[in-house]
Amino acid sequence: MLDVGRIKQDFPILGQQVHSRRLVYLDNAATTQKPRQVIDALVRYYETTNANIHRGIHTLAVQATDQYEDVRTKAAAHIGASNPQDIVFTRNTTESINLVARAWGDTNLGEGDEIVLSLMEHHSNIVPWQLLARRTGAVLRFIDFRDDGTLDLDQARGLIGERTKLVSIVHMSNVLGTINPVAELAEMAHAAGALLLVDGAQSAPHLPVDVTQLGCDFFGFSLHKMLGPTGVGVLWAKPGLLEEMEPFLGGGEMIAIVKPEGSTWADVPHKFEAGTPNIADVIASGAAFDYLRELGMDSVREHEKAITAYAMDSLQRIPGVSIHGPLDVEQRGGAVSFSMDCAHPHDISTIVDGHGVAIRAGHHCAQLLMRRLGVPATSRGSFAIQRRCRCAHRGVAACEEDVC
Ligand code: PMP
Repeated sequence: MLDVGRIKQDFPILGQQVHSRRLVYLDNAATTQKPRQVIDALVRYYETTNANIHRGIHTLAVQATDQYEDVRTKAAAHIGASNPQDIVFTRNTTESINLVARAWGDTNLGEGDEIVLSLMEHHSNIVPWQLLARRTGAVLRFIDFRDDGTLDLDQARGLIGERTKLVSIVHMSNVLGTINPVAELAEMAHAAGALLLVDGAQSAPHLPVDVTQLGCDFFGFSLHKMLGPTGVGVLWAKPGLLEEMEPFLGGGEMIAIVKPEGSTWADVPHKFEAGTPNIADVIASGAAFDYLRELGMDSVREHEKAITAYAMDSLQRIPGVSIHGPLDVEQRGGAVSFSMDCAHPHDISTIVDGHGVAIRAGHHCAQLLMRRLGVPATSRGSFAIQRRCRCAHRGVAACEEDVC
């Protein structure tokens, strides 16, 4: 069980008041707050280590390089990857997906090839493929979801076929909370000779993830959604894939030899990290990985299941409120979207903000999903480790009797 009282003390921002009320931050799916350990790591880097990496041989340059590369190892460990060299640092999940669309997609897709997505994707897992389709003549197909918010696997089986080159799917929906059966989709994709990319923006922060067990070929996520700083993303690729891919961006750091007639590339993953990277934020991300590892991702998941159950139970007691997405916490994570009769999501968000409560209202960068639900927007509360709940008396494990 998590010691939420101690965890809360690690988050300086949660001590403040909004509209004279104690801040209750329930917008973790957009970005999480940062514990003191991450903030301190950032300051410490600038105060003690700041130097450019991989080039210099002076002491600070070596220290900065070691610290940066150490985080690559932590990123690999967080998702069960065996080799840190299969980890590329990007700016965010969006850039991780764009990297694959460019560096893998441009050479592997052609006229009439198919990319299978779902209707619950975030725009960052739709638009890069639309751009790729425009460049190559490839075609996008979309798997629907059932009314209970779970992916329609029967339809997926029909859509994934010999024309499919890539299946790209969100692991945990930022709107419905649905956790998709990635391993099953990987089997379907591989049986068709296609690869599987997983958008792990909402799963890497909240679930134990093992890319080998998932069977995926690419996995992307963002540090700012998992206690880390903004400006750091991760792309993992199955061993061997990065070597086969063309560079994404060209410039310093990613080359081996440059001649007037052309250049050769650095070994992976440096081939994909052109220019000076976001050294400080990557190094501070190490503290975020450490923080979650010390809590244990199994405990994080159990805790968030309890909060989610409590939130859904409470919401369902309010007349006129309907929850979008699975009601079974085993099938979902802690992003809980809802609609309320006669109240616009923006009004709900404004009203609760007046009580110090931060929730999100809007289309959540998922307009295909909104259209499928038949609503222009939803309200969404999204939970993380620093919330308590009062659901123990309702029989949910791993929860504390406490006052929210
Ligand atoms: N995918 C999902 C499921 C997300 O929730 C988000 C962020 N809301 C993204 C992708 C994009 O993440 P980022 O903005 O960090 O690139």
